[in-house]
Amino acid sequence: MTTVPAYAAPAAKAPLERTTIERRAVGEHDVLIEIKFAGICHSDIHQVREGWGQAIFPMVPGHEIAGIVTEAGPGVTRYAVGDRVGVGCFVDSCRACEYCEQGLEQYCLKGGTATYNGLDKNGEPTYGGYSTHLVVDENYAVRIPDGLSLDEAAPLLCAGITTYSPLRHWNAGPGKKVAVVGMGGLGHMGVKIAHALGAEVTVLSQSLRKKDDGLKLGADHYYATNAPATFQDLAGTFDLILSTVSAPLDFGAYLSLLKTDGALVNVGAPEEPVSLNLFSLIGGRKTLAGSMIGSIAETQEMLDFCATHGFGAEIEVIRADQINEAYERVLNSDVRYRFVIDTSTI
Ligand code: NAP
Ligand code: ZN
Repeated sequence: MTTVPAYAAPAAKAPLERTTIERRAVGEHDVLIEIKFAGICHSDIHQVREGWGQAIFPMVPGHEIAGIVTEAGPGVTRYAVGDRVGVGCFVDSCRACEYCEQGLEQYCLKGGTATYNGLDKNGEPTYGGYSTHLVVDENYAVRIPDGLSLDEAAPLLCAGITTYSPLRHWNAGPGKKVAVVGMGGLGHMGVKIAHALGAEVTVLSQSLRKKDDGLKLGADHYYATNAPATFQDLAGTFDLILSTVSAPLDFGAYLSLLKTDGALVNVGAPEEPVSLNLFSLIGGRKTLAGSMIGSIAETQEMLDFCATHGFGAEIEVIRADQINEAYERVLNSDVRYRFVIDTSTI
């Protein structure tokens, strides 16, 4: 075991503060990663505030992790000391269920092991990326391509894969009209990726405040959802709508923007349930679906895709003592477009 510095919430809703945590000894198939950057995902905030239910404290959030391998166990074959690697939302899975066998570990029937706010196979709590070091099984790390800087790559480990996976699954590409709802951490990556896949991209944001940025990131059109005319003007327009909104939405209104046979895929994880009049699905044979992050193999594919297309995330690098202030800004939709912690300041 090694004691390392970290930032943790000592209790639900409490501000995060500097502390120390224990990392396990490097096992046969483990790598020790010196974390360089960790992104702040809205999911960190939901969990620190226990918005999704009871959580484990102290909590060290962080599942957008980019760093360098500094030690490799004797059985490690994929990585060597000095390699640039990333870790996302899970650090293990059962490896035996039908989904693990298909390479869809994010849907592991045993639930997998979350990078933080989870319990590992020994029943010990897991601690995430707001820390200087992490020990992880090599099979749950991915390689960060040389063309991507570690700070701009970190958010791809959650925001990138969570938008890439459904955009690929629902065939965003040339000839498809795709709308992205919410231009935050996930949303801005959704815009970049959908554009790179060749789709015609529309941003549906609460206001036009971030319109110039959205168009620069690759959107073809940008509408404010606080303008009632938006829902009249765009009725029946889209093949695919990807909602990244962290709060409950009027899904019926968004379903009205789909073409017949269109799909509204929700990746946002609001803390309260939503209600829906099912007639908004029946007329037009529409689909309302969800999607959760992506597999290890697909995360690697997404990183390579982003490197090939020459983009990472749009980031604001912060010191660890700015985490609590950054949380407030995320809650106020005032993030452009991902806060990334420089973990050398922990
Ligand atoms: P974020 O950076 O805060 O972005 C969310 C965006 O949603 C905001 O920037 C804002 O965009 C819009 N929004 C916020 N409140 C709204 C409201 N009341 N009504 C309408 N729009 C609103 O958050 P994020 O990190 O991208 O995460 C987004 C959600 O996805 C969170 O709930 C997170 O937990 C979840 N998530 C899910 C997965 C998954 O696997 N499914 C993975 C990661 C995260 P505008 O200002 O443009 O309107
Ligand atoms: Zn996340």
